[in-house]
Amino acid sequence: MYEKNIKVCKNENFIKSLGHHIGHHACPFKFSSTTFVNTMMLHTLIEKLPRTHSTTIRKFKSLEIKTFIDLLNYFPSRYENYSLVTPIEKMQEGEVVTVKGQINDAKNIYTKRGITIQKVILIDSSNKIELTWYKQPYLIRVFKKGMFLSAAGEVKKFLHTYTIEPKEYELLNNLSSQTIHTGRIVPIYPEKKNLSSRTIREKIYYLLSKLVEDIEWLPEEIKVSNNLVDELKAYQSVHFPDSMDDGVKARTRLAFDELFIIQLSTAIIKRQWEKDVVGNNFKYGSKQNKLVEDFINNLPFTLTSSQQKVTEEIIQDLTLKKPMNRFLQGDVGSGKTAVAAIASYLSYLNGYQTLFMAPTEILAAQHYQTINSIFQKYNIKVGLQTGSKKINKKDINLIDYDVVIGTHALLNEKLRFDHIGLVIIDEQHRFGVAQRAILKNKGINPHLLTMTATPIPRTVALTLYGELDLSVIDEFPKGRLPIKTFLVPKEKRASAYNWIQTQILQNQTQVFIICPLIEESETETMISVKAAKKEYENLKNNIFKSFKVGLLHGKMKPKEKDKIMSDFKNKLYDILVSTSVVEVGIDVPNANIMVIEGAERYGLAQLHQLRGRVGRGEHQSYCLLFTSANSEEENFRLQYFAKNLSGIKLAEYDFKIRGPGAIFGTKQHGYLNLKIADLSDINLIEKTKKAANYFMSHYNIENVPLVKDKLKTYETSQIARD
Ligand code: ADP
Ligand code: MG
Repeated sequence: MYEKNIKVCKNENFIKSLGHHIGHHACPFKFSSTTFVNTMMLHTLIEKLPRTHSTTIRKFKSLEIKTFIDLLNYFPSRYENYSLVTPIEKMQEGEVVTVKGQINDAKNIYTKRGITIQKVILIDSSNKIELTWYKQPYLIRVFKKGMFLSAAGEVKKFLHTYTIEPKEYELLNNLSSQTIHTGRIVPIYPEKKNLSSRTIREKIYYLLSKLVEDIEWLPEEIKVSNNLVDELKAYQSVHFPDSMDDGVKARTRLAFDELFIIQLSTAIIKRQWEKDVVGNNFKYGSKQNKLVEDFINNLPFTLTSSQQKVTEEIIQDLTLKKPMNRFLQGDVGSGKTAVAAIASYLSYLNGYQTLFMAPTEILAAQHYQTINSIFQKYNIKVGLQTGSKKINKKDINLIDYDVVIGTHALLNEKLRFDHIGLVIIDEQHRFGVAQRAILKNKGINPHLLTMTATPIPRTVALTLYGELDLSVIDEFPKGRLPIKTFLVPKEKRASAYNWIQTQILQNQTQVFIICPLIEESETETMISVKAAKKEYENLKNNIFKSFKVGLLHGKMKPKEKDKIMSDFKNKLYDILVSTSVVEVGIDVPNANIMVIEGAERYGLAQLHQLRGRVGRGEHQSYCLLFTSANSEEENFRLQYFAKNLSGIKLAEYDFKIRGPGAIFGTKQHGYLNLKIADLSDINLIEKTKKAANYFMSHYNIENVPLVKDKLKTYETSQIARD
């Protein structure tokens, strides 16, 4: 029947796509066809999805949807309720309904203004109604008299006649055919990369209709004691709920899955940790003590008492036989790098190598500069190893270096180390079992220090990172002036530019100008790169003609990026126009002005990261927020940001009003890439923690392959995100 539809409309692609809609109605979940998708096949590559255009496949892949299960894990952001199917006669003005009937007439009306209106008369056994579309003339080529059509939307009344401007519609084989887009609670998906909700819905519907195999993976007793619905049912209902309540239950189940796996991973790491004995416990006798003190005294500044406190905690851990697993939280600019340097120094004194991993090449290069300049006088060999900069190209032999700085590539490449005692991870999500395994395979079981400026609310940190010890730097170096933040309305833009020019001329300050995020998606897209280039041209050629303006974006080659950054540091530019790639960690003490375009698009935690790029020297720093947001709420949020300088305070505020996505939603800050669970649901977090502990004490994961599989997928995804 699908074939038939294609044949009828074979010349036009769009009609083909309508054909898809028609074809699928024969496959409600209940009556699955013979093609069979089982658990194994959930991992089938998305390319194998039948009846799917290659451009759609490409779009899916750009959304990281690589397999069938990835597609099923693309969850709706909301639903529209079109489940009220009404006879035409009975419908009421203002109701949102689905009407089903036969097409009696379909025509284009051409208005004087050049807009076409599509008018369709639909009849059912009770009455008839006029359906109206705008600017979709192709519909009339598809809609033929006698075809069965289902349409959903709000009932409107003009003069005495009712009409619907359908929000969704679909052709049916007959009036009792299953519907996908109408006649039910309809899922609405985030529309990214030009993928319509309709296409996603259709593909997911198709996949679900083929899914008959039992895909349950949780042990029955855990499922039952936590009151969870079946896995398959959960997937069906999260996409196509029978009722809102049904949808909520499905979400709970899937959120449980997500958190349970994280908890399990945490519990396993913790257990390993408790079992592990590194044997590379560092010596910290009077000799080392003296040397470390000298080292600290030789730093260009005095440690804050917070820095001192966490340094002591870390040194204490390093002297133990059990490997350290410590999480160091400290606001941007609180001075975590110095603490890391002290730990590396102690590692060196004990004859061990230290690996220092940064999330990006720029940051790795920056750490290299900082650490190297501190360590040079001690004759400590510091190496930088990133994708583009290899310290030793020939045999990737890093044995000669005391400290090796790089990206996560340090783990994945076949690098040779022989005596790593300490691994420091900056601004990264936690170090999972898998990453640890990579090191172990190299015969290494080091102490671990994970550093972050991501303000994680304490409750969340304690429940989810139970395996980590927590250290917090909760003060800034003395004498640092609070950054002044201003919201700049549209009409003040020109005077803001004037002010910036004066600042550059009078104080030789440098300026960051951050171009807006174009997509809501967290990663830098080609579009935002283009926008940055355009803005750069504009600023360079018009606004800041007499100044030196540089451009930085993530699509540049690492070498280029490094060059731009170091040129900026060396004051070859007055102004650096950039996408948000500078967000994390870049340190340019002479830059005192941060301009953020489209500030309304950022979460406060992210804005805070950006603002943290300035205010690092002793001069007064400024942050100017350009915004086109008009809503009072948005204004209030940004004003709140302007008034508050504490990362944790801002994070908690955003956590409350925008949900955890505001903190955890982006790759750079994300410790967890949650798809459906909500970190403010402390209740569910607790429940999953209990369940994971129960699992650990009652099962051997080796005997529960389905759980093991899930865990492995999770851990692989954690690595893949690096
Ligand atoms: P973050 O915690 O964001 O990684 P950094 O380690 O980059 O912060 O430190 C921010 C800036 O503060 C650097 O320029 C660093 O040299 C400086 N700094 C660190 N500790 C102190 C201190 N105790 N006193 C003064 N300046 C410090
Ligand atoms: Mg840092």
